Amino acid sequence: MNDGLDPFDRASLIAAHDEGHAFDAVVPPIVQTSLFTFKDYDEMIASYRGERVRPIYTRGLNPTVRLFEEMLAKLEGAEDAIGFASGMSAISSTVLSFVEPGDRIVAVKHLYPDAFRLFGTHLKRMRVEVTYVDGRDEEAIARALPGANLFYMESPTSWVMDTHDVAALAALAKAEGIVSVIDNSWASPVFQQPITLGVDLVIHSASKYLGGHSDVVAGVVAGSKELVGRIRSEAYPYLGGKLSPFDAWLLIRGLRTLPIRMKAHERSALAVARRLQDHPLVEAVCHPGLGNHLPAGLLGTSGLFSFIFREGIDVRRFADHLQLFKLGVSWGGHESLIVPGEVVLAQKAQPNSAAAFGISPRSVRLHVGLEGTEALWSDLEAALDAASSG
Ligand SMILES: *Cc1c(COP(=O)(O)O)cnc(C)c1O
Repeated sequence: MNDGLDPFDRASLIAAHDEGHAFDAVVPPIVQTSLFTFKDYDEMIASYRGERVRPIYTRGLNPTVRLFEEMLAKLEGAEDAIGFASGMSAISSTVLSFVEPGDRIVAVKHLYPDAFRLFGTHLKRMRVEVTYVDGRDEEAIARALPGANLFYMESPTSWVMDTHDVAALAALAKAEGIVSVIDNSWASPVFQQPITLGVDLVIHSASKYLGGHSDVVAGVVAGSKELVGRIRSEAYPYLGGKLSPFDAWLLIRGLRTLPIRMKAHERSALAVARRLQDHPLVEAVCHPGLGNHLPAGLLGTSGLFSFIFREGIDVRRFADHLQLFKLGVSWGGHESLIVPGEVVLAQKAQPNSAAAFGISPRSVRLHVGLEGTEALWSDLEAALDAASSG
């Protein structure tokens, strides 16, 4: 594991900005306060002038949130990071910091559905145009980029798990002087470090693997001081989607076990995916780790993937027969989950389009959690038997 990736490192914990008031506790305190008071007038005016960086109000700076940001920046090999109240808040604040009316975004196809909907609603009303291109087609990306203002990536993509050569795509954007952004929630910094691949800004839904315990909704963006500073100075304080101190504290806890959790998700998910691939009811498995070698830039694979049933299989019987796998959205926690594609396609949110997300009604998305692999496979096998006898 590389040097940048050590969530056990106490140096980042010691930088807790609390000037020795943590009693050398192994777990940093939660600074659960909305505001911070000043000794006197001079101290207050010095803070407002920016002569001294210290917390004033938690929407701006909070020590617990800052500690999480520093840990995450270190894991991503980035200079700086900002925490948000959700992954979508991180996405919207980032995008809104880099586009204005009349601008154009180039985005890869099959994006996370709510990012796609943000682009098709708010950004559309702002007269920001979005060109969608298959991220596997580097020539098409190169043709689309000139004149664009932002390049938005996700690899692997949310449902069909397309993987892209992130370094090659980032280089194309760099050559055009376009800021590149990637949603790295799936791989986590353990299995993909986009900054080292040349991407400018890395976004996470921290609700997924960074938190890892299904008890936090949060987001984060990492990148250079300059680009993160641009988000920090406008979208962050005025849109106000601030990460709370308690959620930041839960994320600090989550980061400590991130590398070992990711390895466990990888091992079990690969075992389950290989067995599904050999199962007679299954037409295809969309998992980036099933080839002879990993796609470029990926150091490993996580617990989220999908598969497609052959024609005529009763997905409802399969879903209702599962015991260990629960029906539920989101992913990245300890528990195993499934989402049938039919259910997502039935969602009323607009804009909605099967083509945009690449979701087949015969597909099922699985998140393989931290339960035992054999128990997970028996559960799936029994449900597959139930579906075939239907
Ligand atoms: C869940 C998710 C998001 C949105 O994050 P929230 O924390 O739910 O707002 C963004 N991108 C991907 C890939 C996700 O899975």
